[in-house]
Amino acid sequence: MITTETSQINEIIHQQRSFFQTGKTKEVAFRLAQLQKLKQLVTDNKPEIIDALKADLNKPEFESYATEIGAIKEIDYAIKNLQNWCKPKKADVSWEFFPYSARIYPEPLGVVLIIGPWNYPFQLIISPLVGAIAAGNCTIIKPSELAPHTSSLLTQLISKYFPSEYIAVVEGGVEASQQLLSQKFDHIFFTGGTAIGKIVMAAAAKHLTPVTLELGGKSPCIVDTEINLEHTAKRIVWGKFLNAGQTCIAPDYLLVNQNIKQDLITALQKTIKEFYGDHPATSPDYARIISQKHFERLTKYLDNGQIIVGGETNSESKYIAPTLLDQVSLSDPVMQEEIFGPILPVIEYKDITEAIALINSQPKPLALYLFSQNQHLQQRILQQTSSGGVCLNDTVMQVGISSLPFGGVGDSGIGSYHGKASFDTFSHYKSVLKNSFWLDLNWRYAPYQGKLSALKRIIG
Ligand code: NAD
Repeated sequence: MITTETSQINEIIHQQRSFFQTGKTKEVAFRLAQLQKLKQLVTDNKPEIIDALKADLNKPEFESYATEIGAIKEIDYAIKNLQNWCKPKKADVSWEFFPYSARIYPEPLGVVLIIGPWNYPFQLIISPLVGAIAAGNCTIIKPSELAPHTSSLLTQLISKYFPSEYIAVVEGGVEASQQLLSQKFDHIFFTGGTAIGKIVMAAAAKHLTPVTLELGGKSPCIVDTEINLEHTAKRIVWGKFLNAGQTCIAPDYLLVNQNIKQDLITALQKTIKEFYGDHPATSPDYARIISQKHFERLTKYLDNGQIIVGGETNSESKYIAPTLLDQVSLSDPVMQEEIFGPILPVIEYKDITEAIALINSQPKPLALYLFSQNQHLQQRILQQTSSGGVCLNDTVMQVGISSLPFGGVGDSGIGSYHGKASFDTFSHYKSVLKNSFWLDLNWRYAPYQGKLSALKRIIG
């Protein structure tokens, strides 16, 4: 539904709270059935999803399959593991507490809000929704207004497959988002930029609502000399220019050992040609920039440093060629802000210590990439830097592994999801301690006289 009316939003929340109170969403069979329905929603409507993504981002069908419809894998993983995740887990109780038993029960939080971005506008709603359903919640979804075709399709599909008292979509821009944020939810799951993440967290704080913030930042990609050059170039070009660079974990900039810089640039240039041809503007495999505002923001970066590959633009079609920039200074805007587009600065280092110092002088990134077969160097980077995640000798692929929690740290986010982490994010783990009546030792009860020395022996 398209609404920014507080009364309508309140009504949906009220209906969802009433539905949650029935206890229906807590039944594991119900959750499994809804996950199956969600899978059906995706599998039944692949052509419509692909068309919407094409209209919003000129997203190639292959990329839509791999990175948006691929959310089905998350649904399958949850269906396979849900029974096990829902089981109460026994907790250890030390002998002093005999005869107590302890268990941890996962329980749903209630009515949750998911706010999505425009870059993977389908998948970044569906993936967190898997966690919300699996954990037994009711959900309100706010897709990004900058991907209007996908937003409208999501509204249509969600209302066809689910009643709004269980899952509802509220469409709209900042105003709709702010109307929603003024309400009390039991959890807010936000994917978007760091600046808006702060607004979301401040609004959530008013209601003491817990948040998961999946944010962005500048993800560095280090390239050492001990590599397979051809594979490295392919993996960087793919991860950077996928979705025309509009990927939260795309390599934002390269930090290249000076001894391999020229060879790497040559290999990257060759790979760009292999992937997208002499004229990427005519390639069916290359997406477009989402909006005029982002197009203008990105084209300003082309004034930074020196363009060594690409640089062509077309305002009408919001096209920016896959571009490599050399001679960039750290004070240039392209190195001060998250790029989030198909422009890749190449910065050289002499000694890896410089590269590590540069990374550590910046806010903690969402992803960090290292291309090197040197295991000592791999360990050093893991130990001396901090980031949401790391991928060694590849880019972006870490996001597809359901058993790896996905999320940021510091400025790149709070919390994580995917696989079990999604279930955990949307659950409260309730600790339950149980005593029985067959034994009632007096040692803790007053009067305490004569009991202190025994207590001291136990506590130490
Ligand atoms: P954004 O923060 O501008 O918008 C995200 C959502 O917030 C949209 O639904 C929008 O309507 C809403 N919004 C915008 N301004 C708001 C305001 N003032 N108050 C309340 N809500 C508001 O982000 P975006 O431009 O859609 O996406 C790009 C950013 O998202 C990049 O920084 C990228 O790195 C990040 N991102 C992160 C991940 C991740 O998984 N960590 C994934 C994709 C994108």
